[in-house]
Amino acid sequence: MKYKRILLKLSGESLMGDQQYGIDNKQVLQYAQDIKSVREKGIEIAIVVGGGNIFRGLSAEKSGMDRAQADYMGMLATVINCMALQNALETVGVETRLQSAIKMEQVCEPYIRRRAMHHLEEGKIVIFGAGTGNPYFTTDTAASLRAIEIKADVVLKGTRVDGIYTADPEKDPTATRFDEISFQEVYDKGLNVMDMTAITLCQENNLPIIVFDMNKEGNFMKIASGEQIGTLVK
Ligand code: UDP
Repeated sequence: MKYKRILLKLSGESLMGDQQYGIDNKQVLQYAQDIKSVREKGIEIAIVVGGGNIFRGLSAEKSGMDRAQADYMGMLATVINCMALQNALETVGVETRLQSAIKMEQVCEPYIRRRAMHHLEEGKIVIFGAGTGNPYFTTDTAASLRAIEIKADVVLKGTRVDGIYTADPEKDPTATRFDEISFQEVYDKGLNVMDMTAITLCQENNLPIIVFDMNKEGNFMKIASGEQIGTLVK
């Protein structure tokens, strides 16, 4: 296996499956199975989950809500998703710990970096909820930040497309996919990989990102074992 410790970022939307909103438990169970298979190969896995399937601060601001208030609501939404994923992982027999950047002691642990690393060393899957705990950030940034903090080898961004394209492949049929791209090229071409704060954190800390299609069964295992699929940013 190529990696010892990985951080997987799942967007909230990825948990919707074919639905327009909310959580498709069948989809979440599929992810849980894929994650379990990789864990069984001995790789330590931490996961950051987004909340866009439930609530997004920026969209709420556009309809007149106070941004910081809306962002806190978005962070709470991520915890709902994390709990769904935790439930699915435990259903398939994987031990997990959920840590939230906003304290919610009835449902999860608070985020404590050293404890998270200890859980990982023990083979538990650690799910990080509530993003960074701060408004005006995203869960992509939380993924980069946590990955750096726990000394992960790579950030794996599981999406519904199979990598980074020259243009949006759903709109432009001539768009082509990059196998590999530098952080600088991401800036220069203005590519939509993760938000700039997340990208900058990774670049400054030499943390590679791989964007890949998490919805294709077995892809997560391929990536974890070092197969070249998706797009590598480094
Ligand atoms: N959010 C935040 N701070 C963070 C992470 C998330 O304020 O550190 C809020 C923000 O409102 C965001 C929402 O939580 O819109 C859901 O997160 P995100 O949009 O990153 O989820 P994803 O797009 O990955 O589903």
